[in-house]
Amino acid sequence: MADLTKMLKAAREAVSRASSVCREVQRELESVQSLTKDDRSPVTVADFASQAVVAATLSELLGHRITLIGEEDADELRQQVANGNTTIIDAVVKSLASVWPDATRDIVLDAIDLGGSESDPDAGSTHGFWTLDPIDGTKGFLRRGQYAVSLAWVENGSPILGVLGCPNLSSDFQRPFDDPDPHGVMYVAMAGDGVVELPADQPNAHGVAVERLEPAEGEPIRMCESVESGHTSHDDSERILEKLGEPAEPARLDSQAKYAVVARGQADLYLRLPKKAKDGSGYYVEKIWDHAAGAIVAKEAGVAVTDVFGHELDFSHGRRLEQNRGVVAAPVKLHGAAIGVIEHLGIGR
Ligand code: AMP
Ligand code: MG
Repeated sequence: MADLTKMLKAAREAVSRASSVCREVQRELESVQSLTKDDRSPVTVADFASQAVVAATLSELLGHRITLIGEEDADELRQQVANGNTTIIDAVVKSLASVWPDATRDIVLDAIDLGGSESDPDAGSTHGFWTLDPIDGTKGFLRRGQYAVSLAWVENGSPILGVLGCPNLSSDFQRPFDDPDPHGVMYVAMAGDGVVELPADQPNAHGVAVERLEPAEGEPIRMCESVESGHTSHDDSERILEKLGEPAEPARLDSQAKYAVVARGQADLYLRLPKKAKDGSGYYVEKIWDHAAGAIVAKEAGVAVTDVFGHELDFSHGRRLEQNRGVVAAPVKLHGAAIGVIEHLGIGR
């Protein structure tokens, strides 16, 4: 039997440390960029550092080797080091100093590989596995908007624990999404036990319960969606909203923070509407780490989360949500209405 309480405590600590590292890199954005002469390098550095600290913290606090399905592996970094190029790994180690003072190149590379491509969801499937997006919403990270550190424990195809760190999200709804909060928030969910919000830098805080009610009748529907038009169909969301009722101006923000924004009542509906790839390979298939933590956070607040066909998200098919297409998250009644409209319009077929 997995000790879920102990695991959740470790996950809170891991995500809080990773959030603090990401903030640190974001403060140093320009210096990392100039060091590496690559505009995307800060996200590379923060991605590796975040995965390393999450993997190391979970291993340390749980006292055993973990199964972690993460987005990153250390192959490329190791190759760079072998070629004598240590710029990135050194920036990673430096960014970890405040939360992990005795980190070294080798320890960090090994920690990243705990969640690398060799890890296999099926290997741990009888006991479950961790899945991690060390920085979800990399574009948001680079534009100092929203991004998330997303960690979940999955058993029998469903997330059982979820910790979603949103280092730039404010608990104050008035603060615009593109104005980073000085503390950030974190959402902690356990299946059947609800979800709480706490400051991202206080992982042991008690937290405030997050509960979602139906939107008031007759009010404009506040939808949220990706900023990136390649990740969701903005045209289709507009068509859906027209049919659902009076739409408010959509909120566009990066990352799984969208799930939290619906859970806490700042938006009513999150639509992620499938688009066909330009290369003719069909619809994009979502990755598990892009949804596991966000989905349990929303569900535990009372939000219905499915794909565009109204099917439960099924995390039992390896690294991708092979059986699902797109995402619809909303309070139950609105969710049902949205699925009806999507079916009527034939979206995702
Ligand atoms: P968002 O911040 O909502 O735009 O989502 C970011 C995530 O979208 C990234 O972590 C990617 O894994 C994922 N992604 C990449 N390409 C696509 C695509 N074509 N459709 C949907 N999601 C994608
Ligand atoms: Mg992601």
